[in-house]
Amino acid sequence: MKLMEGKVSLVTGASRGIGKGVAMKLAEHGSDIAFTYLSSDEKAKEVEDELKAFGVKAKGYKSNAADYTAAEELIKNVLADFEKVDAVVNNAGITRDGLLMRMTEENWDEVMNTNLKSVYNVTKHIQRSMLKQRSGSIINMSSIVGVRGNAGQSNYAASKAGIIGFTKSIAQELGSRNIRCNAIAPGFIATEMTGELGEEVMQEWLKAVPLNRAGTTEDVANAVLYLASDLSSYVSGQTLSVCGAMLT
Ligand code: NDP
Repeated sequence: MKLMEGKVSLVTGASRGIGKGVAMKLAEHGSDIAFTYLSSDEKAKEVEDELKAFGVKAKGYKSNAADYTAAEELIKNVLADFEKVDAVVNNAGITRDGLLMRMTEENWDEVMNTNLKSVYNVTKHIQRSMLKQRSGSIINMSSIVGVRGNAGQSNYAASKAGIIGFTKSIAQELGSRNIRCNAIAPGFIATEMTGELGEEVMQEWLKAVPLNRAGTTEDVANAVLYLASDLSSYVSGQTLSVCGAMLT
């Protein structure tokens, strides 16, 4: 059964990793896909072609999610190209890890702007069209680090905790118009982002995962599919952990 037939989804940061997995899963379930990326032009073109192979409409937009005006322009273009957006997945994110002692103001600002301000930027500009259509599902990519913190990631943890507060507030603000807003808190998912950590750190993290493996982008994409589709029509304001029981 296809769960997203006739719907349009916008996924930020989908040239690779979790965002790409999410876009593929939603397309497999019949959704047209608008997606963004920051710099990976070639990869984005490949993703666009892979998405079209599912028989859906797909288009990649080079757009910096951290930039307010760029997000406004993006939503204008997406609505012109696709006419509506039913589901938004605010996924774009970065890390600039370091102990507070060494964390620069730039490290802090870059992470807050890309991870947290981006969620405000995109949600702010899509809300009008969702309000008009009286439906919508917004899914924000947080992290278990946003729930429990992590030494060496105070900027990242703060941005991801901020996303959870934003998510709960928007669920309350827009619920009466049938617009849902939920967060996903992935644990340790194998992508380029975690690949940067090195084998030793990865093995250390994996010891804390009761399901005894790293998560896959598909594990997260399946949770997004649930929250984007009508299967979750009475679920809003929640944070769903996809972490192999790392956080209980
Ligand atoms: P990747 O580094 O593999 O991919 C990041 C994606 O975001 C890329 O498509 C990148 O585009 C895009 N991106 C980065 N900055 C911007 C920006 N300013 N504007 C638009 N797009 C941007 O990350 P993951 O797939 O691992 O992570 C995806 C999300 O999931 C992030 O929010 C991350 O914090 C979260 N997460 C990941 C976990 C993990 O274990 N991997 C665990 C918990 C949460 P480009 O290729 O052009 O640079």
